[in-house]
Amino acid sequence: MITSVGDALDRLEAGLSLSREEALFLYESPSTEALLAGAAEVRRRFGRRGVSLCAIHSVRTARCSEDCLFCAQSSRSVAFLDPSSLSDEALVDRARAIEASGVRRFSLVASGRSPGGDLDRWLDLIARLGKATGLSLCASFGLIDVEEARRLKAAGLSRYHCNLETSESFFPSLCGSHSFREKVRTLRAARQGGLSLCSGGIIGLGESDADRLDLGLALAEIGPESVPVNLLHPLAGTPLAGRSRPEADAVLRLCALWRFLLPRSRLRLAGGRSALGDALAAALKGPVDGLLTGDYLTTTGSDVAKDRALLVSLGLEAAP
Ligand code: SF4
Repeated sequence: MITSVGDALDRLEAGLSLSREEALFLYESPSTEALLAGAAEVRRRFGRRGVSLCAIHSVRTARCSEDCLFCAQSSRSVAFLDPSSLSDEALVDRARAIEASGVRRFSLVASGRSPGGDLDRWLDLIARLGKATGLSLCASFGLIDVEEARRLKAAGLSRYHCNLETSESFFPSLCGSHSFREKVRTLRAARQGGLSLCSGGIIGLGESDADRLDLGLALAEIGPESVPVNLLHPLAGTPLAGRSRPEADAVLRLCALWRFLLPRSRLRLAGGRSALGDALAAALKGPVDGLLTGDYLTTTGSDVAKDRALLVSLGLEAAP
């Protein structure tokens, strides 16, 4: 059993992972500063220099069949979202502009349980974006099987995104139309199909500290290359509209814990990160080595130039 942040670092350096009990000990450590300093040291020892910037674009918005309580696109939401989408030509232009702004990873994101009848169109779009740009391409099209993953890979996709969202035990309180296990199966299918993985969760859904720890452990078992940390941004018209946004200290502690659980993954602050305010700098100097930049799916995001300027001011380089 570890008795200090230093012990946890030594375990990771010896190629071991932390048990649930040890991770809990870390999470309950009284000092956020010590936890952040430890997470920064994990990052240094595992050679995780630089910060990756990625951007997303919705290719199918709203009218989702699924009932995820936290999502403005779900069947449970009455929030107004514009369902119109860009033409393929306009999307290629947008991807080129994103690349010119210094972002190297770009994801197509769709509402819905699965790609359904839109998959062929999106495969063409991915091939087209691959020819027109040097961006690493990602996609988030809901639940997929191995065959679909192979087709996405063949079209030029490098990474598949599917958030676990929260712990397996809390997930049914938030979504009844699909399961945590179906998401895990999708991630395994994507891996089998030759794609790298992006999977994380949302903080502020009413989950406990134990749920946050269990989600981190579930992610560590899968080992996604990228782990987005979203902060609930409660929107009017969604069932979680009355909730408050997560507090910066809680988010910093979670990111530090997950850095210990996922030392080789890119930990990426994503939707809702404006709630962090000035704490964003502490996150980037500590556990976090990735940012979703530009607009998010259903909320206005950050400015790419501003994010790049922040990295420069912190002495951090952009990474793929
Ligand atoms: S999170 Fe995805 S599956 Fe769930 S309601 Fe939103 S778009 Fe649909």
